[in-house]
Amino acid sequence: MSANDTYEAVIGLEVHAQLLTDSKIFCGCSTKFGLPPNSQTCPVCTGMPGSLPVLNRKALQFTIKTGLAMNCSIAGFSRFARKNYFYPDLPKGYQISQYELPVCEHGYVEISVGGGTRRIGLTRIHLEEDAGKNIHEGAGTYSLVDLNRAGVPLMEIVSEPDMKSPEEAGAYMRKLRTILRYIGVCDGNMEQGSLRCDANVSVRPVGAVALGTKVELKNMNSFKFVEKALEYEIKRQVNAIKSGEKIIQETRLWDSAAGVTQSMRTKEEAHDYRYFPEPDLVPFMPAETWIEEIRASIPELPDARRERFASAYGLPEYDADLLTSERPLADWFEECVRKGAQPKAASNWIMGELMRLLNEDGISIEGSPLVPAGLVELLSLIDAGTISGKIAKTVFEEMYRSKKSAALIVKEKGLLQISDASELSAVVDQVIASNPNEAGRFRDGEVKLLGFFVGQVMKATKGKANPGVINDLLKKKLSGK
Ligand code: ADP
Ligand code: ZN
Ligand code: MG
Repeated sequence: MSANDTYEAVIGLEVHAQLLTDSKIFCGCSTKFGLPPNSQTCPVCTGMPGSLPVLNRKALQFTIKTGLAMNCSIAGFSRFARKNYFYPDLPKGYQISQYELPVCEHGYVEISVGGGTRRIGLTRIHLEEDAGKNIHEGAGTYSLVDLNRAGVPLMEIVSEPDMKSPEEAGAYMRKLRTILRYIGVCDGNMEQGSLRCDANVSVRPVGAVALGTKVELKNMNSFKFVEKALEYEIKRQVNAIKSGEKIIQETRLWDSAAGVTQSMRTKEEAHDYRYFPEPDLVPFMPAETWIEEIRASIPELPDARRERFASAYGLPEYDADLLTSERPLADWFEECVRKGAQPKAASNWIMGELMRLLNEDGISIEGSPLVPAGLVELLSLIDAGTISGKIAKTVFEEMYRSKKSAALIVKEKGLLQISDASELSAVVDQVIASNPNEAGRFRDGEVKLLGFFVGQVMKATKGKANPGVINDLLKKKLSGK
């Protein structure tokens, strides 16, 4: 989507991802969320004079892992920098971040939008510490500061201005989240703030080479809001330019209640922060062998897995895409196949009944009370003709609720499929006898009424009749043979 016929949008995202380390980036304090204010703090993360930071090896390892998964080159020499600014949630008066020598550079991820694939460039991925949190609620004339979050490790993933629409920005965010979750470095929870996005957007005349003045948007804590804020902002900029105004470089906040962006402050420049190399931490030179070890720990990534699901299992694009959207879901599916399930049948049950029940209960696949072996057993009962496909839905839900085996449920509830023609014959006779009108129309050529009769027999047998057998019986009896 372009902004309209005469202007096009240019979008670049800066994404902050909180790393899943147990302890903070420069001290041993816990990163746990939701604990009493200031209970997870020490002299280092509260910025006491004389305290010294020590880099958390795992935070660096996770950043390198992310860089490798996103096709970046990993710097052989990298260092931290001080970003100086004053704010009450920043006790040291500076944030330890990276500036001219980030851990990762020059990567890309691929997104699928409108049937095509596009490559979105990554400028850099750097490592930094989070700030604390100012709390204004409830307090009268003062605010409170909680430093539990101060020093929690963050990666900042900066994209090139390569996106052209809110839809592409949304697809890019989702792709980042999927990869981060696959490689286990971030939980990707936007509501809790472990994945945050600042969106930079400008517009320019279609065909122009020079970039327009950009505006940075903040405060969007869901994918939907990122897309909505960008849509609004693109329209606002185009309208402003058309009415002769100049776009000023500024930071604007998304107001989700009002559905608008509002000016927060004019944009600060890098020199405002007086960046300089962090003197309390040595530069680091990750060894090639360590980088290769990290590379070897990266699992098959979502794009590759999706393609393999389509080619190896013959799944439609839609199924392959959905099943590989989360690693545990893809694992669940593959375990079914390993245990003998027909891939498309397993996919249908997972995408249909299983997802429906999990969604209803608000639980993820990891918490599913039904295990792959259960679905495989159910599928084999259907294949063997022991139960009908219709009854299988009932059995499936019962397995999910009670964790009992399919065979036991079928036995306890008397759900065996009736395939015996002599047993079904009487039911078929009865159904034909009670619907003489339809039977007559069928004989006069209205053959699609067969479905009606099948339905009636199913109803009479509570869904237990073997559809193949009743089809044969009905055809024979209706045509009077
Ligand atoms: P800043 O110096 O303001 O931090 P950067 O050049 O570092 O700006 O870019 C920050 C983000 O903004 C990047 O994701 C980049 O792709 C994006 N960006 C830069 N210029 C533009 C522009 N003119 N329009 C849209 N996005 C842009
Ligand atoms: Zn600490
Ligand atoms: Mg910048």
